Amino acid sequence: MRLIDHFVVGGSGSAPARLGDIFDPNRGEVQARVALGDQAVLDRAVAAAQAAQPGWAAMNPQRRARVLFRFKELVEQNMDALAHLLSSEHGKVVADARGDIQRGLDVVEFACGIPHVLKGEYTQGAGPGIDIYSMRQPLGIGAGITPFNFPAMIPMWMFAVAVAVGNAFIIKPSERDPSVPVRLAELFLEAGAPEGVLQVVHGDKEMVDAILDHPAIGAVSFVGSSDIAHYVYSRGVAAGKRVQAMGGAKNHGIVMPDADLDQVVNDLCGAAFGSAGERCMALPVVVPVGEETAERLREKLIPAIEALRVGISTDAEAHYGPVVTAQHKAKVEGWIAKCAEEGGELVVDGRGFTLQGHENGYFVGPTLIDHVTPQMESYHNEIFGPVLQIVRAKDFEEAVSLPSKHQYGNGVAIFTRNGHAAREFAQRVNVGMVGINVPIPVPVAYHTFGGWKRSAFGDTNQHGMEGVRFWTKIKTVTQRWPDGGGDGSNAFVIPTMA
Ligand code: NAD
Repeated sequence: MRLIDHFVVGGSGSAPARLGDIFDPNRGEVQARVALGDQAVLDRAVAAAQAAQPGWAAMNPQRRARVLFRFKELVEQNMDALAHLLSSEHGKVVADARGDIQRGLDVVEFACGIPHVLKGEYTQGAGPGIDIYSMRQPLGIGAGITPFNFPAMIPMWMFAVAVAVGNAFIIKPSERDPSVPVRLAELFLEAGAPEGVLQVVHGDKEMVDAILDHPAIGAVSFVGSSDIAHYVYSRGVAAGKRVQAMGGAKNHGIVMPDADLDQVVNDLCGAAFGSAGERCMALPVVVPVGEETAERLREKLIPAIEALRVGISTDAEAHYGPVVTAQHKAKVEGWIAKCAEEGGELVVDGRGFTLQGHENGYFVGPTLIDHVTPQMESYHNEIFGPVLQIVRAKDFEEAVSLPSKHQYGNGVAIFTRNGHAAREFAQRVNVGMVGINVPIPVPVAYHTFGGWKRSAFGDTNQHGMEGVRFWTKIKTVTQRWPDGGGDGSNAFVIPTMA
């Protein structure tokens, strides 16, 4: 059986002591195995990173950018194969897998502009004969720990910026779908990066802990579920590292009475069910404002949801494919059952869905549950499956307060034709990323991505200038060149520029 090994300079060493299963979610079978690494594997990767990083950082930034340009071209040339590989392990349909890769490439494009971004600040004549300038220097070695749901985009969010500014980088991808990150690292090497600048180690908690405790790793970026994000944040910070840790989500779509409901239904189908709902920017909760809006929306949603086509991930006609593992399918179906027990009305029930010829695949049919309330556990928690819950709000105030009070604060959307309501909503809602008639408001690469509350721990977002700040430390130089005589100032008094 195929083995996905670590991508570490000098090879992975001895045969791995532990292996993890990689499933084919379309068929419900093990299709490959992944090496689960330990401290020794990480130590080898860190040693190679330490050897490579000073030379990489000393290269002028245009030369680093040229490697990124070439990498972008190579990923584009390999797009089809990468998208199929991604889809075969994750289960998202191939067109969606291309989107996953493209959103990562957008960050690579941003990082290609690194010479401009790293120029720093300069003040001439801050005091008599004194100039001040600042520079952003790399941290040394950065690490990224990534989730299963975007195996191309999220590693690229992290490493494109981290290496562009001169760090070496180690990715620990999800053990569910680790093959694409390895291919990306191979292509980065092929693009001309020195060995050791970008490496991949695989593993589970043991490897994550080794990363968090390793004294030579200066910063860790994590994306995954909230409890683990919090754990990673706390342990990494306790070890003296810089940590950003993005967590789970439960994004709400507010539907005002004046919204274009046909467009909303179309948007909701894509945002709630695309990628089988396994997106941190999915819209799994819809909040119609007023009973009349709720009834009209429900009437339009039911036939649209019933018409969704669930298929294998290579089915070009399918709207979405299987979820990632049997365990995850059981979890999603468990939440549907829980929500019904709690009093939710199961309008469309996707449990027990089977696909002819793929009876063992991890498919969950689209599910719609009405009359969900904020008191329900199934509302409070992330389901991460093709499940849309309707929570009816009596008015605008209640619609603002629902996402604002929720434990998660990743994304939110409002659908309306009323500019005042939209503006007021965007201003007041206690959530990090807001869409106005945009169901999945994932910011473009040169802006930044990050939620609030339990959707993110730490205070720097992913990519854009926030990413540059996260992966660098700033140094400020105050200089005066001798002109033959001192200025007679008293060295015992704090210097001022007065
Ligand atoms: P996960 O938390 O199970 O795994 C994420 C990473 O943590 C993986 O690399 C995994 O190997 C590692 N890990 C797992 N268990 C661990 C443990 N006990 N200790 C230390 N490390 C451990 O998440 P997932 O299921 O792969 O991904 C889905 C989750 O990620 C969802 O909650 C989703 O909302 C979230 N997500 C968030 C964002 C965001 O930007 N906020 C983006 C994508 C996904």
